Amino acid sequence: MAVPKKKTSPSRRGMRRSHEALSQEAHAECPNCGELKRPHHVCAHCGHYDGREVVGAGKALKAAVRV
Ligand SMILES: [Zn+2]
Repeated sequence: MAVPKKKTSPSRRGMRRSHEALSQEAHAECPNCGELKRPHHVCAHCGHYDGREVVGAGKALKAAVRV
């Protein structure tokens, strides 16, 4: 079995972990409903994109699509 020759020092371990930080996810306000949404994505709350509704939002419409 391969075994590391030397114990990783706290400094080396810290250098390795310096790239592990998570960055904040991009977000923007929906111009239609004001909810936060991902840029260049259809709003999950109201189904609008570029000023018009492209996805039917709401339970009644969702059920109609599935049937
Ligand atoms: Zn919206």
